[in-house]
Amino acid sequence: MTNKNAVYPGSYDPLTNGHIDIIERGLRIFEKITVAVLKNPQKKYLFDLEERLEILNHTFKNNPKIEVDCFEGLLVDYLNKKEITTVVRGLRAISDFEVEFQMALMNRRISPDVETIFLVPSVNYSFLSSRLVKEIYQLGGEIRQMVPELVDRKLKEKYRL
Ligand code: ADP
Repeated sequence: MTNKNAVYPGSYDPLTNGHIDIIERGLRIFEKITVAVLKNPQKKYLFDLEERLEILNHTFKNNPKIEVDCFEGLLVDYLNKKEITTVVRGLRAISDFEVEFQMALMNRRISPDVETIFLVPSVNYSFLSSRLVKEIYQLGGEIRQMVPELVDRKLKEKYRL
């Protein structure tokens, strides 16, 4: 199977310009990228699934090369269902490496066809995370160049800024 399509899985709670940077880089390699939002009932999110999907759908509505979807359970089962074998993940710092390495090897163990491709973001976003964005807004700050306009608006609504 050729790697025309790839899945970029994540929480996207919320989408940041770092994620967008990785998607744009991914589209230089793949014809289509499916941004797949993880539904994890164990995890507490600031934005519920509908909101996370709404943000992604709104942001990528004009790009037919980007599909927005969600999944529950094992990533490899989702990949199987989609008949896609390539996973894209972003690598920011050494701190990402251990977790990502473990996850890539575990996915390969469960499903040997799966390959994980790591893309490195622009240095501008190499320190950026959804968690950090939420913390900054929660404390009354804003970082406009780091998130799409809709995310900025929604974060301000959530924290009544
Ligand atoms: P997860 O909970 O699966 O880590 P995230 O939404 O936080 O979900 O991240 C999804 C993917 O995007 C991960 O591979 C993560 O390393 C990557 N990522 C997140 N923020 C950035 C960023 N600023 N630059 C590059 N990659 C990023």
